[in-house]
Amino acid sequence: MKRDDLKKRLSAILGAEHVHDSNEMKLAYSYDATPNYQALPDVIVSPGNMEEIQAIVQLCNETGTPIVPRGSGTNLSAGTCPSEGGIVLLFNRMTEIIELDADNLTATVQPGVTTETFIRYVEEQGFFYPPDPGSMRISTIGGNISENSGGLRGLKYGVTRDYVMGLKVIMPNGECVVTGGKCVKDVAGYDLTRLMVGSEGTLGVIGEATLKLLPPPESKQTLMAVYNDIEAAAQTVSEIIAAKIIPATMEFLDQPTIEVVEDYAGVGLPTDAAAILLIEQDGPSEMVQRDLQVIQRICQAQQAIDVERAKNEEHAEKLLTARRVALSACARKKPTTILEDATVPRSKVAAMVQAINGIARKYEVQICTFGHAGDGNLHPTILTDARDLEEMKRVEQAFAEIFQKAIEFGGTITGEHGVGMMKAPYLKWKAGSSGLNVMQSIKRALDPKNIMNPGKIFQSNPDGEMIAE
Ligand SMILES: Cc1cc2nc3c(=O)[nH]c(=O)nc-3n(C[C@H](O)[C@H](O)[C@H](O)COP(=O)(O)OP(=O)(O)OC[C@H]3O[C@@H](n4cnc5c(N)ncnc54)[C@H](O)[C@@H]3O)c2cc1C
Repeated sequence: MKRDDLKKRLSAILGAEHVHDSNEMKLAYSYDATPNYQALPDVIVSPGNMEEIQAIVQLCNETGTPIVPRGSGTNLSAGTCPSEGGIVLLFNRMTEIIELDADNLTATVQPGVTTETFIRYVEEQGFFYPPDPGSMRISTIGGNISENSGGLRGLKYGVTRDYVMGLKVIMPNGECVVTGGKCVKDVAGYDLTRLMVGSEGTLGVIGEATLKLLPPPESKQTLMAVYNDIEAAAQTVSEIIAAKIIPATMEFLDQPTIEVVEDYAGVGLPTDAAAILLIEQDGPSEMVQRDLQVIQRICQAQQAIDVERAKNEEHAEKLLTARRVALSACARKKPTTILEDATVPRSKVAAMVQAINGIARKYEVQICTFGHAGDGNLHPTILTDARDLEEMKRVEQAFAEIFQKAIEFGGTITGEHGVGMMKAPYLKWKAGSSGLNVMQSIKRALDPKNIMNPGKIFQSNPDGEMIAE
């Protein structure tokens, strides 16, 4: 369909003020937080409700127009790069918290509400929503669900998937499907909610979500352990888990990361240390005290050179914020920052950190490593310059070897950032040929015209068709 006709029909659905195709807008939505991926969309639209989304999807289905749903574009796998052109679908007019159901411990929201707004809102009402990605200030709930995002509290509380109870999804044929709901138990047929969680906008558009809430923890305490030896820090993680303690948060920063974070945030981190662990426990205060004493002993037994409890809540928040800004801090150092999330079983964290350091030396690239150590979810981050083509080749080789190592250790190519375009070439390493085939069969069955976020999760050929396994 000609672009002008498409714009006219979209304007008839939404009103012309919510349909944009200026060069400025197209450029603004041609990329996301992933370096080195860019493509122009044809049109950018902002629906205001489910009916409008349905009408847009029906139009795209009829005309074979690609749809790229986009929250805040903070994904790190090129999941919202409009590689095949088409429509970028925004949710900036769908930001309502529709209901908080205290009797059922659920909240129902539109997809465009930002994660932090939602977390703060439920906290004000006396509830707790644990998934807290580092990007929570700007990421949206729709994006979190579609990437099945994790966060700093994932170790104890799980990831977004564990809090999605029901969805309203507009399928590629324009029908609205209601999955799950407020029932804690529900085994009626296939679990379509879980299928949609983490589907990266490739199976449908999430128009509404019902999320699980928890009672807030009674108290929390934060501790920082400083090491001269990375392996000792990683070993501490294993020892704490082996002692049957699951902290709410257990984050790892290596020396290069500590240095850039301190330079950025100025929170008093020891810049000469080889590694630090930031550990938070929450729950009944007696339990928190008991756990922290054991954790402190383990840190000391593992030769931590300093173990310090946060002085107060403000200090604790400063320490955790320091971890949350790690990526932004790294981004100040070099023109291009590429963050990965190779993930290994917890017992392999030390070996993986060592392997990453070896790979950095082998390919002569600068890697800062930080991440959710308790989950085995590491973020090796390469600081580079995309204009230096020779170095970029080495960066690519280094990442491929990191993924290979993660798989070798029984891990995965992505723990929380999704496959997108960036890791599509590596999906087979993790899923295997038959696994990939099953995933592609699901995609073909639900989206036969391949209109939903084409080119993501599965590789495309130059004509934009999914390359079949
Ligand atoms: C500084 C920084 C820190 C980060 N920290 C973390 C972290 O700790 N943990 C973590 O898991 N991730 C993290 N991320 C990655 C990213 O923030 C998450 O993946 C986040 O969930 C993306 O949300 P978003 O609203 O920006 O979604 P987008 O990036 O806009 O979209 C992400 C995916 O969801 C799809 N999508 C969005 N909305 C919908 C919808 N309504 N229906 C269907 N599909 C939709 C898109 O098509 C795309 O595939 C971080 C990123 C940055 C830049």
